[in-house]
Amino acid sequence: MKYIGAHVSASGGVEFAPVNAHEIGANAFALFTKNQRQWVSKPLTEDSIRLFKENCEKFGFAPEYILPHDSYLINLGHPEEEGLSKSRAAFLDEMQRCEQLGLKLLNFHPGSHLNKIPVEECLDRIAESINLTLEKTQGVTAVIENTAGQGSNLGNEFWQLKYIIDRVEDKSRVGVCLDTCHTFTAGYDFLNDYDNVFGEFGEVVGFEYLRGMHLNDSKKELGSRVDRHDSIGKGLIGFAFFEKLMKDPRFDNMPLILETIDEALWPEEIAWLREQAQ
Ligand SMILES: [Zn+2]
Ligand SMILES: [Zn+2]
Repeated sequence: MKYIGAHVSASGGVEFAPVNAHEIGANAFALFTKNQRQWVSKPLTEDSIRLFKENCEKFGFAPEYILPHDSYLINLGHPEEEGLSKSRAAFLDEMQRCEQLGLKLLNFHPGSHLNKIPVEECLDRIAESINLTLEKTQGVTAVIENTAGQGSNLGNEFWQLKYIIDRVEDKSRVGVCLDTCHTFTAGYDFLNDYDNVFGEFGEVVGFEYLRGMHLNDSKKELGSRVDRHDSIGKGLIGFAFFEKLMKDPRFDNMPLILETIDEALWPEEIAWLREQAQ
């Protein structure tokens, strides 16, 4: 079965996210558990935690299909000590919020070398950051998102995801989220070579690590390494690819999350994707 939703607003409190997801016809969703543009946020209140769980149950969202996203400020591969320790502290806080909410996944962008350290050294730092966080938490899987490779962001090539996973001690709590826009602009031509691209992913990383997908069309071309999402069918990826993806059982039973640019279209996009999955 396909679990399809969008990255919905949690403004006013995390407890509103499942309500917002229900209203657009989703059976999966993503959210920020804190303000994504600030280093520090107030702790979740007990009421907020209780209401979040109640609403998830009421609208039928199981934790397996909820994919929280961490703050954009965090860089787990930061080349400098201060930035790294600040990022690690913030990431631990994000993981602990997920624990409190009874969630099982935390999606994050791996990190950036900022042109100050070699790629491998940055990837080593990211793996070490994950290890330090997993040691201090329970039950939440660190889900590494592949990137477009914009600027000095890592995670645009499949081998880099695998390199990090190889260095994580608890393999049961590390996974991957593939973003279709990022995969495309990172240079993987799934329009002409669908079988080979996902075959390569299966061989290099392994589908057993795939814990979710971000479904986005792209405003920018194949290999551009620029991250600009578009609505499904309106960008350079197009409807045919998403139809194929919805019929592919390798993407069953995981959150498939829209981060497309026009929220007003989410109900339509979700309904269309669901139809293709039939
Ligand atoms: Zn994404
Ligand atoms: Zn993106």
